[in-house]
Amino acid sequence: MAEHGHRRCEQIDCLIVGGGPAGLAAATYLGRFRRRVVLFDAGESRARLIPITRNCPGFPNGISGADLLSRLRQQASLSGAELRDEAVQDIHRDGTEFVATGPTTVRARAVLLATGVVDTLPDIPLATDMIRAGTMRLCPICDGYEVTDKRVAVMGPAKEAAKKALFMRIYTHDVTVLATDGQRGIDGCPTVPEAGIRFAACIPNSLRPLGEYAVVLLSDGTTSTFDSVYPAMGCKTGAKFGTDLGATCDDPGYLIVDAHQRTLVPGLYAAGDVVNEINQIAVAFGHAAIAATDIHNHLAETSHSFRH
Ligand SMILES: Cc1cc2nc3c(=O)[nH]c(=O)nc-3n(C[C@H](O)[C@H](O)[C@H](O)COP(=O)(O)OP(=O)(O)OC[C@H]3O[C@@H](n4cnc5c(N)ncnc54)[C@H](O)[C@@H]3O)c2cc1C
Repeated sequence: MAEHGHRRCEQIDCLIVGGGPAGLAAATYLGRFRRRVVLFDAGESRARLIPITRNCPGFPNGISGADLLSRLRQQASLSGAELRDEAVQDIHRDGTEFVATGPTTVRARAVLLATGVVDTLPDIPLATDMIRAGTMRLCPICDGYEVTDKRVAVMGPAKEAAKKALFMRIYTHDVTVLATDGQRGIDGCPTVPEAGIRFAACIPNSLRPLGEYAVVLLSDGTTSTFDSVYPAMGCKTGAKFGTDLGATCDDPGYLIVDAHQRTLVPGLYAAGDVVNEINQIAVAFGHAAIAATDIHNHLAETSHSFRH
């Protein structure tokens, strides 16, 4: 135990903030490097919403996000990492170390931020139900394959939605942009009409499930029905702890790291969705392996723990 102000806090090697695929995979690596590692998780992993993922390497018949998270938690615990279902409220530097406070306080020599992103969705009551049913989908890289030859819409500001809509044309000819900014086309972009993508202005918060379909009210008062609607409304990254500590972000708000997942702040690392626009489980695992190994080496530079 170390003293911090009037509070006593535990001294650990590495604090991980976030218990999604990135944080949990890193916890497994660091536990197996025999590091004292504590992972705090607020329980909002994007992966928990995945009905079934079919592109996660190693699961040819797919796996649900809940099942994957449960296996990753079990693996991290078996490796010696400690998992706490608590939200971290603040992290600050104290000399070369970091002090994190929440319901409990820890002092760590290194920190890995695996805080993910939060998707911006239409403000509708049944959003989670629609995601589970596949009538609303968030990630064409993940599950565009599943809507092959189906009626698909992409909802969002016309420019962003059109980009995603063009990507969807590798799966289906029936793609509509549901513009939330009133636009009915994109000036100077012949590819969209050439690709046969339709445009309509919509009322985003009117999106509802209708049996196994999604229905939306258009600005002209008619309704339109789709097999799946993909919002293209952006997301909020969980970069705040990083930027407060002095790390930098790119324009969309992702934390900037080097090839070892290091931020500009010595001892502060980031992995998974909070770092990279290709928000994928496989990417999160790769980041985690790289970050955990570099964290272990970074810790070894200041103190060795040889086995007797
Ligand atoms: C509907 C849907 C379907 C998807 N399908 C696929 C797919 O098929 N294939 C694929 O590869 N990817 C898929 N993804 C993307 C995948 O879920 C993400 O890429 C992956 O979860 C990213 O992992 P992560 O660990 O970086 O972040 P997350 O899994 O989002 O985890 C971040 C964690 O950090 C926690 N956290 C944040 N702030 C704090 C704090 N202050 N204190 C403590 N904890 C905190 C959050 O509560 C959360 O648990 C899908 C996503 C969605 C939403």
